[in-house]
Amino acid sequence: MKKRKVRQIKFIEEELNEHEEKYKKHLIWIERNIKYKQLFDEKTKMHFLKIESIKSEQCNFIRYLGFIKTSKLKPEIEQYIEQISQKIESIKLEVELENPKPNFPYQHCPNGREMYSDWKMIPIYLGRELELAQKIYNKNEKKNIIKAKAASLDQKSRNIAISIKLQLEKFDFCPYCQNELGNEPHADHIYPIVKGGLSIKANMVYICKSCNLKKHTLTLRAFVEKHELNWNFIEENLKLLKKDF
Ligand SMILES: [Zn+2]
Repeated sequence: MKKRKVRQIKFIEEELNEHEEKYKKHLIWIERNIKYKQLFDEKTKMHFLKIESIKSEQCNFIRYLGFIKTSKLKPEIEQYIEQISQKIESIKLEVELENPKPNFPYQHCPNGREMYSDWKMIPIYLGRELELAQKIYNKNEKKNIIKAKAASLDQKSRNIAISIKLQLEKFDFCPYCQNELGNEPHADHIYPIVKGGLSIKANMVYICKSCNLKKHTLTLRAFVEKHELNWNFIEENLKLLKKDF
């Protein structure tokens, strides 16, 4: 199964905030557009009426001119046509100057759709993604708490071990390999601390440095088998030292 990739909460939240900002702009845009449109309609209506009246006048003349085309055009008519067309041009210019093309903050939605589309969907989608990310985050947090608790217990156990060590009885030989214990014997957790072994007298025994380094995190059984040690000898020693194993 393909694992669904979830972005970090931080990034989704940032994006949501950004969308909110864009959404506000979008609303302002619509509002401004409506106001502008009304204003534009009013002005253009007036100008269009003017243009239309001139156009109809012009049409009459054209019709009239067409009618008299075969004869020579009177210069004053030609002049009048020129005047009308100039007037139309100036009105057009006037309308454009008064109503420059609007420069809106943006023309497309962030997802590339046109305005008035359903781009409000984006925050909802992000909301869902945020929810999912939040779940994963909570799950990871729980895991971290468990890990931290385990680490703290482990540390406590190690601290206790230091005090227990001082109370341990010992032979002058290593109960595992029979060699001399040496000047710096190591206190071993018979059942390893990493496997949940406790720092109690019954689970701790002084052994030689060499055995301790070899045993490391192995159980006693695994250590004996790996290094082909004498199980009966070890068992007897541990019993004498009142160990639980
Ligand atoms: Zn040893």
